[in-house]
Amino acid sequence: MNKCIIIGSGLGGLSCGVILARNGYQVTVLEQGTQPGGCLQCFKRGGAKFETGMHFIGSADEGQTLHYLLHYLGLETIPLTRLDTSEYDVISLAGGQFKLANGHEAFVETLAKDFPHEKDNLHNYFSLIEQISGASSLHSLRHAENNPLLNTEYQIRSIDDIIGTLINDPLLCKVLVGNLPLYAAERGKTPFSTHAFITDFYNQSAFRIAGGSDIITKLLIENIEKQGGRVLTRKKVTKILCDNTKATGVVTADENCYEADLVISAVHPNRLLEMLTDNTLIRPAYRKRILSVPNTVGGFAVYMKFKSQTVPYLNHNFYGYMAIRRGIANIIPPQSGPKVICICTCAHPNNPERIKTTCRNMPNVASF
Ligand SMILES: Cc1cc2nc3c(=O)[nH]c(=O)nc-3n(C[C@H](O)[C@H](O)[C@H](O)COP(=O)(O)OP(=O)(O)OC[C@H]3O[C@@H](n4cnc5c(N)ncnc54)[C@H](O)[C@@H]3O)c2cc1C
Repeated sequence: MNKCIIIGSGLGGLSCGVILARNGYQVTVLEQGTQPGGCLQCFKRGGAKFETGMHFIGSADEGQTLHYLLHYLGLETIPLTRLDTSEYDVISLAGGQFKLANGHEAFVETLAKDFPHEKDNLHNYFSLIEQISGASSLHSLRHAENNPLLNTEYQIRSIDDIIGTLINDPLLCKVLVGNLPLYAAERGKTPFSTHAFITDFYNQSAFRIAGGSDIITKLLIENIEKQGGRVLTRKKVTKILCDNTKATGVVTADENCYEADLVISAVHPNRLLEMLTDNTLIRPAYRKRILSVPNTVGGFAVYMKFKSQTVPYLNHNFYGYMAIRRGIANIIPPQSGPKVICICTCAHPNNPERIKTTCRNMPNVASF
């Protein structure tokens, strides 16, 4: 049986482990942290469970892309709860609250209530989203005719560039990209095709994972173990061993050596290069190119548990924007729904105490 080492136990490493274990490999996943799962990890404080990364998924209805993938990976039993179909995302901007609804017609009709003069443009915008998504066989899991225009132009031109040609109202342009932080996109930089894939993915259907995203980790590990594989934590890979042509194993920080016929990295590419420092198999030009690729934007999260009976459950995502005053916290009082939502922006990284102070002054917050 061929031995395979996978570095990293995030969604990528564990999914890869399930696929290879099912296809006859003896799989060992090595994870540097004390908990497996990477961005699927959850934690508990004061009796509340918080997801650190993944908190909602799309296209999981029967016949949709993620539905197929969940079944393929043996995750069909994960408990899903559907977000409000009439407002799976709410964008709070410029004093208004704008809803994104599931389905082409509902999406257009809902936004057209606030922007009636843009109804035709909204149809054109959404048709383009669907065309681009449909032209990718990877996204749609369907055979897609190769359409050079859709496959190249929209991967080169930015979100801003394309939306500006379709929509006239500047506020609507901002609303349509209101959920950009979800996928760490930058308006003038990220390709429009990325925006199209994400918009289509969640517009088809949107769900939370009841009980937390760590159930995905648990089930993927169970599936690897059922096939005779294993997932080891506290195993930071520090070096990938190679012969003259290929990787032959890895060394971990605790100085254990794991031989393998196949080594797969499911971590940041820069971290991978660090494991291959004195290696001549990687060309300097390739190393230089990878190291020069800029990272996506970073994020700063504050987790809060609200006092009982003070804030109603929101069955949608809420993106709140307002001008940043003195750079630290924006308290958003919507007309209905939660009394206080706080979005903190770390404009003063040297002064984290400011965030603490602001949150303590919020009457509905029990702990954070
Ligand atoms: C804040 C946030 C919110 C998100 N929200 C959503 C969402 O709502 N819906 C959605 O679909 N997606 C969401 N995502 C994206 C999704 O969670 C990630 O894309 C996905 O989980 C990443 O999986 P990964 O395996 O690529 O990487 P990671 O999860 O980063 O896993 C990499 C793992 O490798 C380990 N590792 C690194 N170096 C080594 C080493 N040398 N040796 C051993 N182990 C190592 C790390 O400790 C880590 O556990 C979100 C991401 C973030 C950060």
